[in-house]
Amino acid sequence: MTDTPRRFTGDTLVIASHNAGKVREIADLLGPYAATFTSAGALGLPEPEETGDTFIANAILKARAAAQAGHVALADDSGLAVTALNGAPGIYSARWAGPEKDFAMAMRKVEDGLAGQEDRTAEFVCALALAWPDGHVEVVEGRCPGTLVWPPRGGKGFGYDPVFVPDGYTQTFAEMEPAAKHGMSHRAEAFRQLVERCFR
Ligand code: IMP
Repeated sequence: MTDTPRRFTGDTLVIASHNAGKVREIADLLGPYAATFTSAGALGLPEPEETGDTFIANAILKARAAAQAGHVALADDSGLAVTALNGAPGIYSARWAGPEKDFAMAMRKVEDGLAGQEDRTAEFVCALALAWPDGHVEVVEGRCPGTLVWPPRGGKGFGYDPVFVPDGYTQTFAEMEPAAKHGMSHRAEAFRQLVERCFR
């Protein structure tokens, strides 16, 4: 099968997110490759419901919705997939923390699910979708495998970072310097793939 990726050749890229921190981080990562960045939030676009059943499906639906504004749009979807929980919380990673974004509770829920299980492996996954106004879409997926520990350790990072130790390391993501995490994370891997595929 030949798979010739479509490259980004425009100058404006819409980042399909309403989260200002995420928009800034993505604009920094792709800074050299687009002249102008804007976001779904800045354009006042509605946030689509994440009705997909995979990370890729959700990234595609967010990117396609934002591309309707007439520019190429980039969306991400990410989460933690725990082997012994059949991939949960997966696409529900944010939702497990509830409206209060209570990740202490979400981590506890994962730990309770692992009671009696020997297999404590998990991976962080990040899907990225780049969508064009004509509906064409390019997708990549980055993964970072590791092991879950209990109790949570470290005060850096966010989400499930305090219980995740990436393979080959002893510190959790929340104990590492952010630059170390950002070099090896699922998000870093997904962006490496996307740049290679569509931006170079
Ligand atoms: P999204 O912003 O809808 O993709 O939701 C991602 C959710 O997955 C976050 O709210 C976190 O719960 C979890 N997640 C994704 N990436 C990370 C990470 O690098 N560290 C910790 N949690 C993460």
